[in-house]
Amino acid sequence: MDKTSSKPSLRLEKSPSNEPGVPFDDNFGRTMKYLRISLTDRCNFKCTYCRPEIEETKRHEDLLTFEEIERIVTIMATNGVRKVRLTGGEPLLRKGADHLVRMISDIKGIEDLAITTNAVMLSKYAVRLAAAGLDRLNISLDTLDPKRFSELTCGGSLKDALMGIDAAVEAGLKPIKLNTVLIKGFNDDELHSIIDYAASMGFTARFIEFMPMSNGLDWEKGYISVDDVLKMPEIASRVDTSAALNRQNTASVYLPLRSGTGEVGFITPMSSKFCNLCNRLRITADGRLRACLPADDKDADLKGALRAGASDDEILAIIRRVVALKPESGEYTFDSLGRKKSMVDIGG
Ligand code: SAM
Ligand code: SF4
Repeated sequence: MDKTSSKPSLRLEKSPSNEPGVPFDDNFGRTMKYLRISLTDRCNFKCTYCRPEIEETKRHEDLLTFEEIERIVTIMATNGVRKVRLTGGEPLLRKGADHLVRMISDIKGIEDLAITTNAVMLSKYAVRLAAAGLDRLNISLDTLDPKRFSELTCGGSLKDALMGIDAAVEAGLKPIKLNTVLIKGFNDDELHSIIDYAASMGFTARFIEFMPMSNGLDWEKGYISVDDVLKMPEIASRVDTSAALNRQNTASVYLPLRSGTGEVGFITPMSSKFCNLCNRLRITADGRLRACLPADDKDADLKGALRAGASDDEILAIIRRVVALKPESGEYTFDSLGRKKSMVDIGG
């Protein structure tokens, strides 16, 4: 599991718990059911809260192939993983992403297949993704102001993103969640407009606390907590915030709109520890299996093992070893990354 070692250990654990079909339970009673896969670390945007100012992207041959991804997901599905999310970078930049969606949605046991995207390429892909069996879509949209959008994404077009969103609706891709990163001094004055837009489209708006990683934006200046957002009069007038009082150790709270037309999600990676509920594994674009988003030393080189000829049992043993590395709670914070990594490195 040595991150610096180029040769992954293929030693096969001979134990009953390595039998296919046994769920991925960690040492703290959590069962892994959710896999997030980064398809690429490339992106057509350069959102200032996400991508570092200077970055190197992986070569195509360093990315997992679709067949490698299919094999890993098949092994994981045999052992209880039920939900897969494709992300990145921008996952729809990966040529043939719709074919991968078809390959994964055909895997027995996968009940929920989703993509997180900035929407721009949905104009081209929405119909194909719907036909390929995509179950749900998360779209990142941080502002409804064209100038701000262009500034935040370093040249992206709000019009193109909205056209992509319309294409997804037309293709019948739903449910759609709209993810907005909360950034003080940038979009905190238009959160109510985003709620109204989402409600008018039949989407669920979700507000996510800004995480301090390697990026081009000053986190100390831009961070605002969900609790502070819930105190804003224009949010409280739209959202029934009383339910938030019962929030306990949860990654997200969904609060009903006062209009009765849906709900709004608030995701609190910074202000509330929710490790006790974590059932996620992650695969980075270059094929490392990662136990925990901010834990840089708890991973394994799955791609290396696959390319060294590992059998399914050996892959299973590596996955179980990574699951066993999952920290209990709060041991790792984003500061433990030392702002060396961005979301595009890990897969957001
Ligand atoms: N390109 C796709 C998109 O933007 O939806 C998928 C990848 S992106 C890295 C996934 C999610 O991570 C997006 O919703 C983005 O807003 C979020 N994200 C990136 N950097 C973040 C940060 N520093 N804090 C909070 N969320 C972040
Ligand atoms: Fe690209 Fe998504 Fe990161 Fe923006 S948030 S730079 S769209 S990966």
